[in-house]
Amino acid sequence: MIELDGLSGEELFKSSDGLTYKDFLILPGYIDFSPDEVSLQTRATRNLQIQMPLMSSPMDTVTEAEMAISIALLGGLGVIHNNNSIEDQGNMVERVKRYKNGFISDPKVLSPEHTVRDVEHFKLKYGFSGIPITEDGSLKTRLIGIVTNRDIDLETNKDLKINDVMTRELITAREGVSLKEANEILKNSKKGKLPIINKDGLLVSLTSRTDIKKNKEYPLASKDTSKQLLVGASVSTHPQDRLRIEHLISKKVDILVIDSAQGYSRFQIELIKELKKKYPQIEIIAGNVVTSEQARGLIDAGADGLRIGMGPGSICITQDTMASGRSQANAVYYTARYAKKYNVPVIADGGITNIGDITKAIAIGASSVMVGSLLAGTSQAPGSYFYENGVRLKKYRGMASLEVLESKEGGGAKRYNAENQPIKVAQGVSGAVMDKGSIYDFVPYLFQGVKHAFQDIGARDVAILHEKLNSKKLRFERRSLAAQVQGGVHNLYSYKKPIIGAD
Ligand code: NAD
Ligand code: IMP
Repeated sequence: MIELDGLSGEELFKSSDGLTYKDFLILPGYIDFSPDEVSLQTRATRNLQIQMPLMSSPMDTVTEAEMAISIALLGGLGVIHNNNSIEDQGNMVERVKRYKNGFISDPKVLSPEHTVRDVEHFKLKYGFSGIPITEDGSLKTRLIGIVTNRDIDLETNKDLKINDVMTRELITAREGVSLKEANEILKNSKKGKLPIINKDGLLVSLTSRTDIKKNKEYPLASKDTSKQLLVGASVSTHPQDRLRIEHLISKKVDILVIDSAQGYSRFQIELIKELKKKYPQIEIIAGNVVTSEQARGLIDAGADGLRIGMGPGSICITQDTMASGRSQANAVYYTARYAKKYNVPVIADGGITNIGDITKAIAIGASSVMVGSLLAGTSQAPGSYFYENGVRLKKYRGMASLEVLESKEGGGAKRYNAENQPIKVAQGVSGAVMDKGSIYDFVPYLFQGVKHAFQDIGARDVAILHEKLNSKKLRFERRSLAAQVQGGVHNLYSYKKPIIGAD
């Protein structure tokens, strides 16, 4: 028997330094399968499976209904943030649960009184054209026209009313139409959008050629037993959130994520116990934690999943401000090692910057990763694009940034009891990230990359990779600073960066 090179997971993390994903590499294994044979199926929580180990973070610049729908269609899970009113968060959960593949249940709508300038603004903000026009510019009122690119692209008078430019001859379908029938109508009419109206002519939803194309391509979608998309929602441990929790459960949320930077608290343990008793059907992800002791506390209380990470986030200043936290690779390894004994999956949350980081997080024991910045610049993230120095950007901010602490939406100031406190201590910053296009392109790219990485390691699925870690067959190597430099692009005058992966 040949002596194995490198270090086992245990040996890697035994050193006293705190490691991040960049500080180590996985030694390659033996390949006898193709990347397409790799399964990334995993568990989001003790009892819920997802097909892709990806969760979008409950942040107000990352996950609202559109992101949660898209990510669930792709096989992951979206967690809707709680910096909003109870009603707004509940409505978002409801939108995801009621989502019917291919039909947009709350299309953006304008009225005949809006102008060409408004349409252009809409296009820039939401990135699409083909806007239904209803009597008063809201859903569930009479549909009277549609405005498409062709109606306005040659129009120089930007103040012209939509009433004077819209197309009035409409091809519509009646509520209850199947996706297949809608598809046929769109095919025959050669139109881009098909408004769906009820028997009184009121607009109820919309479908488009692009959505129908998408619908065919999502066999991995994360669904509950009623075939509705899975969705999570974040809540805090503050007493006023008991009402929020009740409301979210009435909207059929699948997973509650108790959102805290330091989750090992009396507040959280009491909440988990209370929820497990009152709503045993709900899966609870607790956190955030970074040590085995913290993990024990939340698992003993009844957590079905643990969110790991204190300080690694791209917008985070917690480690410098609060002095506590843990290097993310150590946090993931030690908590996963503990939680495995209780069959509780852990989610590596924060600090994921590329395909390699995702693979490494899973290789050291995580069942999935949670990301913020990686998805924040996509078109499915909340907020509009804007330009700075010619670069197309979207806003991205920490949920403990001053902006959020000072916001009145519902989570920020109230949660910190900061409304009446003159001094607010921020743990995050506000900034911007680059446009990453649609997650329907970006996420499949990421996970095709992860499949290639699994192939190089010689693991066909997540369970095999974890077994290799536990049996010490998975070997690692520490990476010196020079090795890190050499492992990146170097000695080039210029080069073209891929979408992701080259810093
Ligand atoms: P939090 O609501 O958990 O805590 C805010 C403050 O309220 C804390 O001082 C806490 O002890 C206190 N508190 C909580 N429940 C209470 C109760 N029932 N009674 C009295 N006091 C109570 O929020 P947070 O931990 O500051 O996090 C805010 C947001 O920022 C979250 O979205 C979190 O994910 C994010 N964040 C994450 C990290 C990270 O590294 N993962 C770090 C900082 C902030
Ligand atoms: P990212 O993927 O590196 O951008 O990190 C996202 C993670 O950062 C989230 O899932 C949270 O755990 C964490 N986070 C969110 N808001 C804040 C904040 O204001 N300060 C510190 N961490 C935060």
